Amino acid sequence: VHGTSGAVTVEKPGLKRATDPRSIIFVTSEVAPWSKTGGLADVLGSLPFALAQRGHRVMVVAPRYVPYEGVEDTGVRVQLLGHAEVGYFHAQIRGVDFVFVDHPSYPRPGGLYADAHGVYGDNQFRFQLLCLAALEAPFFLDLPVPPQQLPAGQQTPLDPTPVAPAAAPGAAGAEQQQGDGDVPHVYPTSSSSGGEAAAGAAATNGASSSSSNGAKSHNSGEPLHAQHTNGTSSLPASSSNSPSSSAPSTSSSSSSPAAPSPPPPRTKYGQDVMFIANDWHAALVPVYLAAKYRPHGVYGSARCVLAIHNLRHQGVFSPASFATLGLPDQWYGCLEWQYPPHQRQGSWAEEGRSVNHLKAGLTTADRIVTVSAGYAEEIKTWLGGWGMEGILAARAPVLNGVVNGIDTDEWNPATDPHLPYNYDTTNFVEGKARCKMELQRELGLPVSEHTPLVAFIGRLDPQKGADILLAAAEQLLRQQDVQLVCLGSGTPDLEAGLRWLEGEFRDRARGWVGFNVPFSHRLTAAADILLMPSRFEPCGLNQLYAMRYGTVPVAHKTGGLRDTVLDFDPWSQSGTGWTYTSCDPQGLLHATGLALLTYRNHREDFRKLQLRGMQREASWDQAAQQYEQIISWALVDPPYCQ
Ligand code: ADP
Repeated sequence: VHGTSGAVTVEKPGLKRATDPRSIIFVTSEVAPWSKTGGLADVLGSLPFALAQRGHRVMVVAPRYVPYEGVEDTGVRVQLLGHAEVGYFHAQIRGVDFVFVDHPSYPRPGGLYADAHGVYGDNQFRFQLLCLAALEAPFFLDLPVPPQQLPAGQQTPLDPTPVAPAAAPGAAGAEQQQGDGDVPHVYPTSSSSGGEAAAGAAATNGASSSSSNGAKSHNSGEPLHAQHTNGTSSLPASSSNSPSSSAPSTSSSSSSPAAPSPPPPRTKYGQDVMFIANDWHAALVPVYLAAKYRPHGVYGSARCVLAIHNLRHQGVFSPASFATLGLPDQWYGCLEWQYPPHQRQGSWAEEGRSVNHLKAGLTTADRIVTVSAGYAEEIKTWLGGWGMEGILAARAPVLNGVVNGIDTDEWNPATDPHLPYNYDTTNFVEGKARCKMELQRELGLPVSEHTPLVAFIGRLDPQKGADILLAAAEQLLRQQDVQLVCLGSGTPDLEAGLRWLEGEFRDRARGWVGFNVPFSHRLTAAADILLMPSRFEPCGLNQLYAMRYGTVPVAHKTGGLRDTVLDFDPWSQSGTGWTYTSCDPQGLLHATGLALLTYRNHREDFRKLQLRGMQREASWDQAAQQYEQIISWALVDPPYCQ
């Protein structure tokens, strides 16, 4: 897989254990199966397992939108911004620590980010809080070390011949140890960075109290924003704008100016923490690292990779909101983004000024990764950059594309509990036919094994080309003997369009408006062809699921679709689907026509196409190795922003 900064390679295919295990903390606004609006959740619900399996210590920090079964209260409470107390809930699953940040602003009767009245007015605060809570988590949470990360000899082998962890040659973190956080950490020794903050750090979090459930509660006094309104802080007054810290401690060394500076606080989560901040919701993580922690010797060896799943959403707020972020004044320029007149939106935007979280993350992260090599190229151009193309082009040397894998346990037609019939590569023709006929019965469509079933699954919005689909569907259904089943939710006009389609073509179309994961599995298995007319697509997961289920994708040649759907070539009998370049109903119809022609008239070719898709390597292991390589590069290099 090629990123714009050169090749990211899978160095040792099949290697099960990383040669240099790391502590990796993902920060995300959603994670499957607990919270999901799209592919971001799927990635966060699977990539961490692949990295943990390879021997890394992995944490995923996400909001606690609702109480989750099996997720326990750690009892830890931390005061952030001087006024917002967050709690931490935790579940360790297959070696991954899932940490859910609890705060009254997360649960909402509507969706995760918006309801029928639009996006929530306090989203900036909600996700700022997520970033801060994630940065504090490694100091406060004393989580058991999963068996995979125990020292050699005590660990459970993941394969018969695990490769012993070894330091990467020349890696900055070569001396790093994993796990218990008791290993002395080497912080920068420069006088401007270390001691003073560390003194404040060690002194800050003294008070420990018992919460109502008897759990230990650390009333830290939020160190970063140093408002200390709760009176518990013992930070020196002069350090009111200093970060400091977080290690819960009973020391009160700051009371003695002559006392030698204690070492900077150590995280309980191993050393050289690697943050992977996902999308705008987590984009302040590298900013806080650079502005509030690193200058004071805290997290000196930590780095941050910003992962872009969709550049369209950037976290844009009024310039005045900068004051609420707790950043030093001189950081305003990092956050500010000025829009040209034709792109200005919002009441604050007369002069085009805004505070843009993603822009700030892009300019401070140590490296940037996005979810396909194709998208990594597109976002450097005005066609795909949404205004960020200049910044991304400037950061091209550290920008890579890694195609998402999929959770091959959840999406496995041989074991999928949602399917009426399971099948694999040996019996997929029969298995899919049975799934199709069952779905036809379920939906009240004519039951017919040989009528091609065409499907669409996805958000109903212009990005996904749902309008293009609706325009093409009419012609497709009038001119061809096909059935079309669509599943999606989104903008009211497109949802109405789906309902209209079903009303207009009662005998061959169904439009299921809503978000229904089991139905998405059944539809993926039952369909012969999956349409993906996305205008842009950072990676796209549905085409990956489709191929694994023997369903042939027809997709607009963009972003990750370009990288993952290889065009059928009847001469060489290669390819896994059809792509088209003309992003309109005619382009979609033309490619769909070719797929239908092959389905009807060249059954054997179609069967081989399906088989190639099913056999395609789709697991996360390769992508995990590529992430590892990017993480290693980030840890070797000095921090980009200090
Ligand atoms: P995006 O994240 O841009 O929405 P992706 O293709 O990366 O698109 O991921 C979308 C994910 O959400 C897939 O897992 C897809 O199956 C799922 N999904 C989208 N819409 C629905 C729906 N209406 N019901 C169930 N799952 C859906």
